[in-house]
Amino acid sequence: MTSMLKILLKNGTGRYATRLYPAEAREPFAKNRADLSFDPGCCRLCKTCSRKCPTGAIEVDKENRTWKRDVFSCVFCGDCIEACPKSCLSFVARPPLPQKHHQQAVVYATVPERSKK
Ligand code: SF4
Ligand code: SF4
Repeated sequence: MTSMLKILLKNGTGRYATRLYPAEAREPFAKNRADLSFDPGCCRLCKTCSRKCPTGAIEVDKENRTWKRDVFSCVFCGDCIEACPKSCLSFVARPPLPQKHHQQAVVYATVPERSKK
């Protein structure tokens, strides 16, 4: 009974083991793969990332010049990063915001037309 009281007191007065994310975010650790960044400015819509992705998370539409990644399908393996010939993809230590609905978890980008110069 005394040990249980000790635990209750410790839990009630000590620091919380969890944080109120995203209001209170933890500092990312080194080599953290929190999110995948895509730079539409350098993309050539070659579809290599989409072909290499083991989970089919990336969809590239050359006609409509769009690049999409389904965050819920991504396993952060890094295969697309290694495969991209233009280095448009990279891991960033910025944790993605929590999502309630699947539609919100699709990263969508329009790739700009390239200059003819
Ligand atoms: S990190 Fe892996 S799973 Fe995620 S989009 Fe790239 S290849 Fe697909
Ligand atoms: S992100 Fe890289 S691999 Fe994917 S379509 Fe663009 S240029 Fe190709």
